Amino acid sequence: MSEQFKNLFTPLDLGFTQLKNRFVMGSMHTGLEEVKGGFNRMAKYLEDRASGGVGLIVTGGVSPNLAGRASPFACQLSFPWQVSKHKKVTDAVHKHDSKILMQILHTGRYGYQPLCVSPSGIKSPISPFKPWKMSNLHIRKTIYDFANSSRLAQKAGYDGVEVMGSEGYLINQFLVTKTNKRTDHWGGNYEKRMNFPLEIIRAIRKKCGKEFIIMFRLSMLDLIEEGSSWEEIVQLAKELKKEDVNIINTGIGWHEARIPTIATKVPRAAFTWVTAKMKKEIDIPLVTTNRINKPEVAEDILANGEADLISMARPYLADAELVNKAKENRLDEINICIACNQACLDHTFKGKVSSCLVNPFACYETELVHTKTTQKKIAVVGAGPSGMAFSVEAAKKGHSITLFDQDEDIGGQFNMAKVIPGKEEFNETIRYYKRQLDLNGVILKMKTEFKVETAKEFDQVIIATGVLPRKLKIEGIEHEKVLTYVDYLKHKQDIGTKIAVIGAGGIGFDVSELLTHSKESQSSLNKDDFFKEWGVDQTISTRGGIADIEAQVPKSPRMVYLCQRKTSKIGKGLGKTTGWIHRMGLKNKGVHMLTGVFYDKVDDQGLHITIAEKKQILDVDHVIICAGQVSNNSLYEALKFKGVQVHKIGGAHSSGELDAKRAIKQGITLALKI
Ligand code: FAD
Ligand code: NAP
Ligand code: SF4
Repeated sequence: MSEQFKNLFTPLDLGFTQLKNRFVMGSMHTGLEEVKGGFNRMAKYLEDRASGGVGLIVTGGVSPNLAGRASPFACQLSFPWQVSKHKKVTDAVHKHDSKILMQILHTGRYGYQPLCVSPSGIKSPISPFKPWKMSNLHIRKTIYDFANSSRLAQKAGYDGVEVMGSEGYLINQFLVTKTNKRTDHWGGNYEKRMNFPLEIIRAIRKKCGKEFIIMFRLSMLDLIEEGSSWEEIVQLAKELKKEDVNIINTGIGWHEARIPTIATKVPRAAFTWVTAKMKKEIDIPLVTTNRINKPEVAEDILANGEADLISMARPYLADAELVNKAKENRLDEINICIACNQACLDHTFKGKVSSCLVNPFACYETELVHTKTTQKKIAVVGAGPSGMAFSVEAAKKGHSITLFDQDEDIGGQFNMAKVIPGKEEFNETIRYYKRQLDLNGVILKMKTEFKVETAKEFDQVIIATGVLPRKLKIEGIEHEKVLTYVDYLKHKQDIGTKIAVIGAGGIGFDVSELLTHSKESQSSLNKDDFFKEWGVDQTISTRGGIADIEAQVPKSPRMVYLCQRKTSKIGKGLGKTTGWIHRMGLKNKGVHMLTGVFYDKVDDQGLHITIAEKKQILDVDHVIICAGQVSNNSLYEALKFKGVQVHKIGGAHSSGELDAKRAIKQGITLALKI
């Protein structure tokens, strides 16, 4: 066993049962719950995490009744005939000495469906559906449904349930006055607002007996106005303990909160202090969570006595073997979650099956499989995400792979992404691939531009040469004030203090982010700076941890104009769950966001533009072009012309809608086939 991680690998005794280690896989809705054959896929997906060493797995949320569903066809466990499909999952996990809890999630007013309910019928700001106000009878029936669902989960072989009491879902809605205006048994003072969760736990315990794990996800920091006070949260924790809850998990922030809690801008383990604060109040196993993505970070938390268990969720999408790799001290082999949300949470919110940008196998374990092959000698041109992903996967199949890149370092555009404040995690993906290329015997030819003649040494050539910045036809485009994002990010060209950015896509936003940061204000790396910037009260002396706390955003060292031609909302195309963070971050930094812009010319005066037929001059030192890209595929065309067997992937394949998620998946999919 790894000495370095002795706390993480210490079993936890719950009396009637033991957890083999302190690694918890937190609940994630993957969408497999709802697709045809999804439970078979889920069984394999979770079995891989169990065989990968996780001690305790929590499933995605399962509703106890119709009204509680997250969406019209979301997963529900209310009837005996629904048990057998869950059994496939629990059997698969139990083969590996891991435990599994089913999360019971009643979404309340967050339900994206017309039957949703809430204590007082108050609509949430993030859902179009107005909830029905629950009657006393409905509340009693809902408590029964939680217990009934738990009993069915027990029959399906689950070791227990996690009762979802945080993130602003139904139980949370009962707890705070913002959403609970009742004056009956379920509302009024805090004692009454606690009745709903406490009666749920009582009912579950009665129905399922003593030897059944009940974990409660307690909202320890609501991050909304009129949220719970710290004293109330502690009081509830103590009451839950009295009701024989076995473990309390930490919940941070309601979904409607406007403070990032898991995005890549959030520093690692940023919210652990909340669990640590609770540890001083109560003696019950506590799980901490949010932006913990490496075993080293997790071990420190346990060693400091801040929590008893560590919940990571997305990191197990990124790497099913994370725990075993930690145990065997193979840390440099771990594929780290970069907290981008692009293939997991963004998919969930679009109703698509989740996966992972850095690991497209996640939730596709039964779909993405190797085909038989004969060994080939393959040249891969371009060591960006698509080329690296292809090379590793193809080498695993036994092909002889030589990877060429004209640059000094592997990583392609990730080398530009990693310098953006809040995207430091992209370094980890480059580090992961560096190790994997080495482990799988890929021959690296760096600082080597691939020539057409070289192709004859290989059976096949894979073109992964990425993209080139789009060239614009604007008068004065050759002016010395004009540079591309590549000049700025890669070649580190000096930059003035007044800047216009042309193009407000992902890269325009990222460039603006870097422009508005000084080296000293890296809030994605410094927890105190992060909380100051987003207005979080670390003493939780205010309700919800935010009220009356003024955000202190460090001043931008530059004046930035971020421009787009469209008249639609700026940043509309950014990630579903992260776009608002990017927009708010730049707004707080005072970036001028201009829409409906016509670019007239660039000259010594600056950038001449027209908006709504009104001409103006942006008096800037530099204009940075971030206006999208075109495929860099001239090499592909030349090889094809010569009759070489050649494929293209990533940006070289097509530049429209290109992102790293598509680039990596395309690389892997081709490798599986070739
Ligand atoms: P690239 O990464 O462009 O790699 C191509 C490689 O080919 C390069 O290393 C190049 O040197 C090499 N090459 C080219 N021609 C030759 C030749 N003739 N011989 C040898 N080598 C050659 N995507 C996301 O999904 N999420 C993000 O948050 C995100 N943020 C980004 C932030 C920034 C600042 C930038 C610039 C990009 C970001 N992207 C992001 C986009 C993402 O990085 C790209 O979609 C991805 O890198 C494309 O991968 P690729 O393999 O197709 O090509
Ligand atoms: P993009 O998202 O396509 O944005 C290009 C921007 O340039 C748009 O704002 C577009 O808006 C403008 N534009 C396009 N053609 C133009 C022209 N001829 N003249 C002037 N403006 C023009 O591309 P990107 O920002 O280069 O990003 C590339 C890819 O990297 C994206 O597809 C993205 O998925 C990925 N990426 C993702 C993230 C992320 O956080 N998820 C971050 C960075 C990059 P108008 O046409 O309205 O002007
Ligand atoms: Fe992490 Fe991004 Fe993968 Fe989601 S898609 S698990 S955030 S790396």
